[in-house]
Amino acid sequence: MRRALASIVLAPVVLHLAPSFAQGVDRKNFSGADAFAFTRQAVALGPRPDGSPAIAKLRSMIKQQLAMRGCETISDRFTAQTPDGPVPMENIIAKFAGRSGRAIAVSGHYDTKKMANFVGANDGGSSTGVLLELAAALQGRPRVDDVYVIFFDGEEAFHEWTDTDSLYGSRHLAEKWNADGTNRRLKALINVDMTGDKNLRLIWDTNSVASVRKLVWDVADSLGYSGAFPRQGSPIADDHMPFINAGVRAVDLIDFDSQTTFWHTPQDTIDKLDPHSFEVIGAVVMKSIEELEQQK
Ligand SMILES: [Zn+2]
Repeated sequence: MRRALASIVLAPVVLHLAPSFAQGVDRKNFSGADAFAFTRQAVALGPRPDGSPAIAKLRSMIKQQLAMRGCETISDRFTAQTPDGPVPMENIIAKFAGRSGRAIAVSGHYDTKKMANFVGANDGGSSTGVLLELAAALQGRPRVDDVYVIFFDGEEAFHEWTDTDSLYGSRHLAEKWNADGTNRRLKALINVDMTGDKNLRLIWDTNSVASVRKLVWDVADSLGYSGAFPRQGSPIADDHMPFINAGVRAVDLIDFDSQTTFWHTPQDTIDKLDPHSFEVIGAVVMKSIEELEQQK
């Protein structure tokens, strides 16, 4: 991910307990603790850049989890043309089928940037944990719309971030879904990236589509999380961009405060994360899905 402007205001954030959702025998609420535990498992594999044995293990772990969730799992394999040559990559997509013909997507990336001693607890790890727990929380709930949970590969640049060296997985899927018509069925795509740090405070990304950004931010207000969702920000380039360019209403949820996210440093480790931040993101995303399903 890359930001175009540097203006960060630090403020203490007061977070409240998430409300509970209706719970049946075969349903669970999104648990921040469980999402954090998934992230810890991913981080324990070590650095997870493309081409590493660790990312192959993580793909297996993601698929094992999704196999228990009563969803369809789709492997979107492709070869990325990188500055280091062709690299095999794989987006992993969980589909929870609805009845309306419309669809909602929640996405994030699971690769980590290739850097010495970089395990990407927040950057790559937190999105993986959020999405795995989201799949657990979506399990067994009747759906209006199809809900896709997308684990993007290849978000990170191999060298310096450019339009062609970045966002490999999301660029691939946006193109594929343009061709097969899936993008036209999407009511929205919500991307999460670096949302596990303590003192969660998201960027109000000005590249995101205003209507869906407002929906998500209003949901956060309604749940008492306004402190983590300030309405000031700057433009962010992230996995939502290929979908925005394809005409999809997409929004990016990202904390890019260098003081709390330890972005692209060896200090981006599990001890810098807070299960409560996962709880906040999970509650906001789950309620945003419900609100989007009520829209025509
Ligand atoms: Zn990164």
